[in-house]
Amino acid sequence: MFKDFEDQEPVPPDVQGATRPVKNPVAAVLGGQPGPVGPQFRPAPAETHATRSAPRAQAQRSTAASERFRRTHFPEATRADWADWHWQLANRVTRPERLAEILNLSEDEQAALSWAKGALPFAVTPHYLSRIDPDDATHPLRKCMVPSTMEHMLGAGESEDPLHEEHDSPVPGLVHRYPDRVLFLATRFCAAYCRYCTRSRMVGGAAVPFERPRWEAALEYIERTPQVRDVLVSGGDPLTLEDGPLDWLLTRLRRIPHVEMIRLGTKVPMVLPQRVTPALTRMLKRHHPLFISVHCTHPLELGPESRQAFVRLADAGIPLGSQTVLLKGVNDDPATLKELFHQLLTVRVRPYYLYQCDPIQGSAHFRTTVERGIEIMSALRGHTSGYAVPTYVIDAPGGGGKIPIYPETMLGHDETGWRLRNYENREFRYPEVREDASCEPAAAAADAGKGVLQ
Ligand code: SF4
Repeated sequence: MFKDFEDQEPVPPDVQGATRPVKNPVAAVLGGQPGPVGPQFRPAPAETHATRSAPRAQAQRSTAASERFRRTHFPEATRADWADWHWQLANRVTRPERLAEILNLSEDEQAALSWAKGALPFAVTPHYLSRIDPDDATHPLRKCMVPSTMEHMLGAGESEDPLHEEHDSPVPGLVHRYPDRVLFLATRFCAAYCRYCTRSRMVGGAAVPFERPRWEAALEYIERTPQVRDVLVSGGDPLTLEDGPLDWLLTRLRRIPHVEMIRLGTKVPMVLPQRVTPALTRMLKRHHPLFISVHCTHPLELGPESRQAFVRLADAGIPLGSQTVLLKGVNDDPATLKELFHQLLTVRVRPYYLYQCDPIQGSAHFRTTVERGIEIMSALRGHTSGYAVPTYVIDAPGGGGKIPIYPETMLGHDETGWRLRNYENREFRYPEVREDASCEPAAAAADAGKGVLQ
């Protein structure tokens, strides 16, 4: 039993996830074809081969593709610079002229970048840019980060704050919608700005190292609200904070007796994996039970650096769950999402939520129909491990909270129970328990050839 596992070479614990013989996500997503053309983008054969043969050393290095990208576009930067998250932040690409030196911008991208004043800022880390095809404006990671003129169109039902977070905010920077949990908006800064961001109205500010007065007001609210047992620290991206301020915030939250669990919401392992240092994970593990929800969109985000970041977080004992926004032209097909969810499980991230894209201003080009989301979930459920199937939810506009969507399985019900449909389209019945039901011993019921409930 388990012989296959016993026969394997022992693997250093801090890189176990990074050493799995994974499929190349580029080839998988493109139907087994080589990646798009362009010397900087071609997936490096060494990326999987080398991680298998020399896991510890290789996991600490960049990929061959990112090395080529660094030498081409940041020739003055050393490998050590590239691996330093402060260097990555200091060298974010924020200006259209600089972006045009790296990507062959389409006319639409050029127009959108020139109009961008006042909207969500444009910023992307060198790391994330190195994973984008310079010649393909339809590349999925590029669509997530490079503005489109469609952002300036207002669709029906779209608004700046569709989830009414401001309405549910008792103090600035804190959202209290559900009875026992709050959202603590620790910063307005992100390493890179996703074009479909639900909080585009508020993110994009300068990196403020320590917003102590604002944090104090939110902490005082939590202290005087004993029903709050779960605090989600998000933003902006809380992992863009330095270790010291983040440690201070988590320590203060931990001191509140009724706060049982803390969650961090972040995209850092995808856009700035260099931030997940051993020092950070040592600090985070002092604040257990601490959970992390990672925002990931596409399997192409999961390069060796991101995989190593997840392994470090998982090895620190942090339960990891993923949140993915369903995005038209980016990930709205079952094969891409299945590959993403399978890849996440190999680095111990449990797919948790698949979100219908929120109707923020200028999001129509990103939003799929709900029917499409239901079709995708039907193509996943039952066709792969349950662990690889997240819950598909709509965060209800107007502040209704997350509503799970399962219409394809619930066919209806009457006084005796529910009619359900499984992944093979076969129908089953689940008997409803009745308040007034009386029971008899199972054996007696079986003898009588009938069910137990009367
Ligand atoms: S990382 Fe999150 S908060 Fe930041 S821009 Fe992306 S979706 Fe918005």
